[in-house]
Amino acid sequence: GHVVVGGGTGFVGRHLCRVLRNKGYGVTVVSRRPDMNCMGWQELKVRGLPTETTAVVNLAGQNILDFKHRWTEEFKRVVWNSRISTTHTLAKLIERSNSRVSSFTVMSGVGIYEPLPGMVYAEKSHVHDFDFFSRMCLELEQAGKLSGHLNCRQIAIRSGVVLGYDGGMVKNLYLPFYLGLGGPVNPGNQPLPWIHVRDLARLICYSIENNKMNGAVNGVAPQLITNQEFSKAFAKAMNRPSWFPVPASMLKIILQEDRANMLLKGQKVMPNKAVSLGFQYIYPNIELACEDVIKPIPPD
Ligand code: NDP
Repeated sequence: GHVVVGGGTGFVGRHLCRVLRNKGYGVTVVSRRPDMNCMGWQELKVRGLPTETTAVVNLAGQNILDFKHRWTEEFKRVVWNSRISTTHTLAKLIERSNSRVSSFTVMSGVGIYEPLPGMVYAEKSHVHDFDFFSRMCLELEQAGKLSGHLNCRQIAIRSGVVLGYDGGMVKNLYLPFYLGLGGPVNPGNQPLPWIHVRDLARLICYSIENNKMNGAVNGVAPQLITNQEFSKAFAKAMNRPSWFPVPASMLKIILQEDRANMLLKGQKVMPNKAVSLGFQYIYPNIELACEDVIKPIPPD
């Protein structure tokens, strides 16, 4: 098979491309900075999907927790468009292509579920628009729907916080924890839906290969933990103490309200679909995941 991966240059994308290539897939990465190894979005729009394409994945998206960007209306527009327009572009290209594309996987997030105490979410739970991120996930899942292309499965992975050495939250936390300054984000008992980046990459690959994978799929580990439990496991793996809780007020100043809420609140999410379809996790619990994510990735 041949897979086209929008945003394949990123944290999740690098892991996905490695999984795919190891399995013998051809891969075309689409990037804003085309070079010898990746195609530009404009070129893709003009030329269409490579004729051999059998699956399409979109991982493109402006990084949300980037401290250098203030949470302005303009930045929110970039965050939004980087996901919705790329997804829309790929959907249109699939509709235009021959019918050999058999799956289209997009990255949504657990942010689609409202963090309510006591609620445990599965894929069939009701979702609704309650803030910026839920609206964006709803819109993205909508943009990933194809009209009149019945042979192509459409999958939206609702991913939790992705844990891996080379990106995402761990990359931001490594230094403070290394210095012994890391700790839970107050109040600490908020759920932290998570998944190891290798499992997420494998789950995306599973969505390409398993004909029963369809619609919304929760991309989280099968273990519910709190923010405090994560901090403990992470500090333990780093062999460092986890003493100082990070005060909510500080996060709100650095990240501003919408984004701070991503860390201050959390939802309990279970991966019912992946588990019932027989997907096997390499990192089903946070201790195993943390022992791995503190180690640099060995080269291929
Ligand atoms: P990255 O931050 O690594 O970014 C992925 C890629 O998106 C980049 O390599 C970049 O490719 C492309 N990109 C960045 N900004 C823009 C932009 N303004 N317009 C178009 N393309 C852009 O993301 P991750 O790999 O961590 O995540 C992949 C997807 O999964 C994202 O959509 C993210 O929202 C979602 N997700 C991630 C979570 C996480 O914890 N990491 C949690 C839940 C969901 P290039 O520079 O080559 O164009």
